[in-house]
Amino acid sequence: MTPRPEHNLETASSRICPFCAESIKQEAKVCPRCRQWLTLRSLRNPAIAVWVYGLPHVVLYGLLMMLILTAFDRIENPKPDYAAFVNSLRVMESRMNWAETSSGPRIYITGILTNQSDLAWRDIELECRFLDANGRLVDAAHPHVFLTIQPHDDTAFRADVNPSRPTNDYAASRVRVSTARNTKGLFW
Ligand SMILES: [Zn+2]
Repeated sequence: MTPRPEHNLETASSRICPFCAESIKQEAKVCPRCRQWLTLRSLRNPAIAVWVYGLPHVVLYGLLMMLILTAFDRIENPKPDYAAFVNSLRVMESRMNWAETSSGPRIYITGILTNQSDLAWRDIELECRFLDANGRLVDAAHPHVFLTIQPHDDTAFRADVNPSRPTNDYAASRVRVSTARNTKGLFW
């Protein structure tokens, strides 16, 4: 069996271009005849440059696309506002406890919250009214509880309030939900 003719041209200082089969210099990075890049280890090789310079662009366009899609999603399909679901989150029970902290007495309110809507809610703002022994309003607070409550579920919560009056003025508390944020989102 005789070797193919072009193999005869391959010597120590020359080789065969794999693209055009021309005999070229061993060190050649670009074939002088067909201009094809022969080495991958060069940023000037278009096949490499497209990845090195192109990839950051692809990532950037991807992020931009996500932002645009999110913006369209917010316009086309706005997050439900809690104002349309008032009373779907209910405080079923709550109790008021006092704790001595380094900055003085603090009120802790613990309770159970139920969700009667078909949507999940988070970052719940509570309205706490504090009454004295005669049923008069003596203090109020709007603590946030950072939790998520699933549709038709209940969850325990704890909120803490800094009292503005002597502890003896607080005979009872009434707690309800002021507002909450919907959990729905396309990407975040
Ligand atoms: Zn070539």
